[in-house]
Amino acid sequence: MNLHEKIFDLALKRSIFYPSNEPYGAVAGFYDYGPVGVLIKKKIENLWLRMFVKNDGHHEVQCSFITPEPVLKASGHVDAFGDPIVECEKCRIKIRADSFIADKIDGFEWDGKLKSLDEVIEKKGLKCPRCEGKLTKAHMFNLMFKTGMGADRTPAYARPETAQGIFTAFPRIYRNHGTKLPLAIGQVGRRARNEISPRKGLVRMREFTQMELEYFFNPNEPDIKGFRDVSDLKLRFKIDGKLNVMGIGDAVKKEVVPNQIFGYYLVREWEFYKQVGISEPEMYFRVLRKDETPHYSKRNIDMEVQTSFGIVETIGNAYRTDFDLSQHAKISKGDFSVFVESEKKKIIPHVFEVSMGVDRLMFCMLEHCFRERTKEKDWEWFDFPPVVAPYEVAVFPLMKKDGLAEKAKEVTNKLREEFDVLYRDSGSIGRRYARADEIGVLTSVTIDYDTLKDDTVTIRYRNSGEQIRITIPQIIEVIKRFKKGESWSSIKDDYKSFS
Ligand SMILES: [Zn+2]
Repeated sequence: MNLHEKIFDLALKRSIFYPSNEPYGAVAGFYDYGPVGVLIKKKIENLWLRMFVKNDGHHEVQCSFITPEPVLKASGHVDAFGDPIVECEKCRIKIRADSFIADKIDGFEWDGKLKSLDEVIEKKGLKCPRCEGKLTKAHMFNLMFKTGMGADRTPAYARPETAQGIFTAFPRIYRNHGTKLPLAIGQVGRRARNEISPRKGLVRMREFTQMELEYFFNPNEPDIKGFRDVSDLKLRFKIDGKLNVMGIGDAVKKEVVPNQIFGYYLVREWEFYKQVGISEPEMYFRVLRKDETPHYSKRNIDMEVQTSFGIVETIGNAYRTDFDLSQHAKISKGDFSVFVESEKKKIIPHVFEVSMGVDRLMFCMLEHCFRERTKEKDWEWFDFPPVVAPYEVAVFPLMKKDGLAEKAKEVTNKLREEFDVLYRDSGSIGRRYARADEIGVLTSVTIDYDTLKDDTVTIRYRNSGEQIRITIPQIIEVIKRFKKGESWSSIKDDYKSFS
């Protein structure tokens, strides 16, 4: 079994995620999160909100999921949000053309032109993979889910990204929240993409969650407070296929990164990924080539992560200039300009965008935190960092009888005021530890006969299996130290070890 198969197996067994609407047969591209998956996903989202929105005093919004057609006409999605497809002339099967060719021909990279796809198919004599029939010429297929509003079924779409709601809300939020640039607005929400043939589980879904930040600024003031503090930080960039390690300050100076704002957020992303458990040597930023960059963008840089599916793109950063607001101003006739006091004139703000998928990140994280069986631990487990472990603590009464279960429930209720707590009172203690490790529970507390006498418990650390003896109020203290980033070896020294 390769890594993603092992993870899928464990995910199904432990309710992390699974295909939606299972009794009707799995439809590709749709997954539900179970109780364990939801806890992890919410923690990722909350950490993102803290690091990208709240800590800097930015604003969070939630916009509608169904979007009227004119909005997406203005954004360009109605005319150009697609993948190329070819059809079989005989059996009418539709295939995504670029990935079909890439699967057949090593090193194929699509240049974005339909003609090039036709040429390769012709030259290599590629046929329908199902019936060997002849393939039609390539054409673009729009990836939006179309729907209709009201009795007239006025055209609308499931939103293809969360950004457009932020752009259309910009004038109001600007007016109501300080009438000053820079202004940044974040959103965590669902979006949809009608993938032609989704594969790769959480990596390619038809409905998924996105975390987006739109940073509105005056193009004459592209600096950002706090950049100097991070300017020496070294990040890895892939430029024209080659990896370079560069301080972010240098990267801005050399114009690999267009400005400080862009650079500041790349550093933030790097930190965020490390905190949620992505392994640092397996991630880098890829600077997109000119022919991959939209015409209005001054630079696009993606985060790419190594997985058992190969390289997965997990974050898109784009300097979108004034394109979006100008388009909405033009089509809606609304006023999207702001008055800049220092320049005594109205401008359309420029936008820097951070856009990341939660589900893809979650998948990468599951892979990077997965640990194989060893001599000491005869089970597979997840080494989730404390901030994203589904449960910070599990509480186990040694036995159900003699008041131990009651005491354990009392402790559980107390801890639930602060943390996500797993309670289990059946099975052997060893088995309960193993089950907790399998879903990455950070610590396990055992309630035994001494607990009834002196209110002390043992707390076991997931990674080492070591235990210390502490009082009940100290449980909260220990977990908080973990969440602040302290290591087990420094924590355990302050308490009595237990074996
Ligand atoms: Zn066919």
